[in-house]
Amino acid sequence: MNSLNQQQATQLINELSNRERVLREEIRREMNLQDDYVQLASEAPDPGDLSFANLSIDLGNAAVTRDIHELRAIELARKKMNSGTYGTCISCGYDIPFERLQAIPTAERCAPCQQNFERTHHQDGMRGASI
Ligand SMILES: [Zn+2]
Repeated sequence: MNSLNQQQATQLINELSNRERVLREEIRREMNLQDDYVQLASEAPDPGDLSFANLSIDLGNAAVTRDIHELRAIELARKKMNSGTYGTCISCGYDIPFERLQAIPTAERCAPCQQNFERTHHQDGMRGASI
């Protein structure tokens, strides 16, 4: 676990919850969807799996697709909090600074690793969005 104190952890958990509420509301409003459907979209087991890719295409709405991606990132952050791996950079294994987590509670990498990742894996981030 990242060396966050209890107060910092609570703050980030609240931040994630607030953001999730906003996103779900946004998706529902834009798509006029049932909450069940939004739930389903955000809980598909693998971000790269076929059903989610199809869903992205079906929606055909870039804003909603982005919202769903973020919703899933929030879900992942929660799982990491539960498993004690939250706040640790998945690339270098060092703690992600609290200031960065405050700005981006769903961050999986420290800033230098994220920049490096985006430079070398840019194509991956676009997968499913452009088809
Ligand atoms: Zn790193």
